[in-house]
Amino acid sequence: MRTLRLVTTLAVAGLLAGGAAAVAATPASAATAVFSVTNNWGNGYQGQVTVTNDTSAPISSWRVEFDLPSSSTITQSWNAQQTTSGSHYTFANVSWNGNLAAGASTSFGFLVNGTGTPVNCTVNGAGCAGGPPPTTPPTTPPPTTPPPTTGTPVERHGQLRVCGTTMCDKSGARVQLRGISSMWLNWETAPYAENLSALRWMRDNWNLQVIRAAMGVEPAGAYLSDPAKARAQVETIINNAVTAGVYVIVDWHAHEAQNNQSQAVAFFGDLARRYGNLPNVIWEPYNEPLQVSWTTVIKPYHQAVVSAIRAADPDNIIVLGTPTWSQDVDVAAASPVAGTNLMYTLHFYSCTHGSSLRAKGDAAIRAGLALFVTEWGASNADGGLDGRACLPEAQSWIDWMKANGISWTAWKLDVGTDTTNLLSPGAPVTGGWTNYLHGHAPFVVANMR
Ligand code: MG
Repeated sequence: MRTLRLVTTLAVAGLLAGGAAAVAATPASAATAVFSVTNNWGNGYQGQVTVTNDTSAPISSWRVEFDLPSSSTITQSWNAQQTTSGSHYTFANVSWNGNLAAGASTSFGFLVNGTGTPVNCTVNGAGCAGGPPPTTPPTTPPPTTPPPTTGTPVERHGQLRVCGTTMCDKSGARVQLRGISSMWLNWETAPYAENLSALRWMRDNWNLQVIRAAMGVEPAGAYLSDPAKARAQVETIINNAVTAGVYVIVDWHAHEAQNNQSQAVAFFGDLARRYGNLPNVIWEPYNEPLQVSWTTVIKPYHQAVVSAIRAADPDNIIVLGTPTWSQDVDVAAASPVAGTNLMYTLHFYSCTHGSSLRAKGDAAIRAGLALFVTEWGASNADGGLDGRACLPEAQSWIDWMKANGISWTAWKLDVGTDTTNLLSPGAPVTGGWTNYLHGHAPFVVANMR
């Protein structure tokens, strides 16, 4: 690791003048930024900037700006709101790390493709005149483990795989992803799920690690009648997830997918060819089958779609829907689909589903299945049309998922009166929803953190 101390002009002037009087003259906006290279792989590096409030009074926000040579670009960042204009990068605090007491510090990080390091730095508008930036590229050899404990979810966990009856990350550690599902994309009241700023905000404020793109298939206006629109929505969400460093579930949100198997095979085969190399992506070929046969209807459909995905993507996780609106995981366990890195879908709504459905989950786990709860609500199974929430039973489910390492995405990111709509009217599309939580959202958010 090498560090470069960038000090504001005013702070330098204060140091040159010497003495306590110069410190007292330092404005409340003054801060110190220290840049360091925390990881390096020859043609790129991981950078970190630590911002310190060097004044004797608290500050409520900070903003760091710098330029990179045009040959270097930032591909990911975390713990700050990034805006980019050409080679000029601006990083502002997010809600939880803006307030800094006197002497307190916080850090944000970023990945750079290229070896150029920051120049022309400012902190809260004042020049970072503490010394010249390095003119030679970092030459530190790639470090060995341990893996970083900071950074985006995908940076921390990388390529996922099924290990036994749960999910493991790139280092072999068990990982339980938590996040939210979109609304049926064809019925969103506003494009919340497609907004990059909102996704970053959920990552930074809710600790969201995964977003599910619930692409409606069968209703009017959904994939079968407007495939270009639906596909564009999904690809926007995938690309945003890559930028934000979170996982993304591509969900064929259908109830009778076996009737359109060829369309599903084409859709997943195409996306697997173009996105299957990314560690971010998780495939979900069939949201909620109805009460139809696993062995003669659903399983053959899954085998066809899994084959199409595996022809292009040998390893990303595929989550398979199960009979009776993704409840009969014990039935699937009796005759699992052949293949690797396959998981099975269990959905619950806690005003309707309790211990008897958890018993089906326990039976499936005992039989060797790995489960993923890609939908749940603290509501009736209709999503909570009556507005009621059943939090004690939902807590039993949360505890059960945690004990079994079961990842989850909660239903659903939209505005409306149902219990499971996470947002209240007026929620901006770009995030910042502290005062817009609705229905079961406070419970969902508390359990994501
Ligand atoms: Mg892959």
